[in-house]
Amino acid sequence: MKLVLLGAPGAGKGTHATHLSDDYGIPHISTGDIFRANLRNGTELGLKAKSYMDQGLLVPDELTVDLVLDRLKQDDCKNGWILDGFPRNLFQAEALTKALADEGDEIDYAINLIVDDQEIVRRMSGRLVCSSCGVSYNTNGLMPKVDGVCDRCGGPVVRRADDEPETVLKRLNVYHEQTEPIAAYYRGLGKEARVDGALPKDETYALLTGLLGDKDGCHN
Ligand code: AMP
Repeated sequence: MKLVLLGAPGAGKGTHATHLSDDYGIPHISTGDIFRANLRNGTELGLKAKSYMDQGLLVPDELTVDLVLDRLKQDDCKNGWILDGFPRNLFQAEALTKALADEGDEIDYAINLIVDDQEIVRRMSGRLVCSSCGVSYNTNGLMPKVDGVCDRCGGPVVRRADDEPETVLKRLNVYHEQTEPIAAYYRGLGKEARVDGALPKDETYALLTGLLGDKDGCHN
């Protein structure tokens, strides 16, 4: 199963991708996590990406597209993958479609997690993430069992630098301008599946597994 997760920052892409990855046994590939890991390790890519990330802007396509397409060629991707945070603009979406088509392949779904801006801002104001495995928590309800320690991997749970309110608004603007149009692109390819991401987490997840368990069923 090959999935693209679309949706605003904070719509729940990372949370649901982690869960789907565990349940379906396919890797969760988050470009944001890859950039953050590079930043932590002080790589050249990390240093180049940092200034864009700090401003809430997209990292240039030339640093992003090949990185993802190479990742998809690795062994653990043979049975599928879940892309979270890629593609982020039309150029990236078309590059992915073309690379897959060159192998006679295509994605199964571009799942569009629908959450309105007001709810996004509310969620992001309390979001904390594990800087080791990327799992999200929230001061508005879902906190780790031990303060500051990830339930899943024991890593440190922190507030992301780009989750500060000013940067969140910038990222939302970038989302509306550059990323949201991709939904229409995938709709045109008959791949978009719209899922209500504003429901309680378990209810949204049930919609996702209902959709993926019924690949030939009707969805919109
Ligand atoms: P995320 O964790 O998906 O919210 O991504 C955090 C930041 O990483 C974004 O605000 C961008 O600066 C950068 N980023 C992540 N994915 C991409 C992508 N596909 N294209 C360009 N920049 C990206």
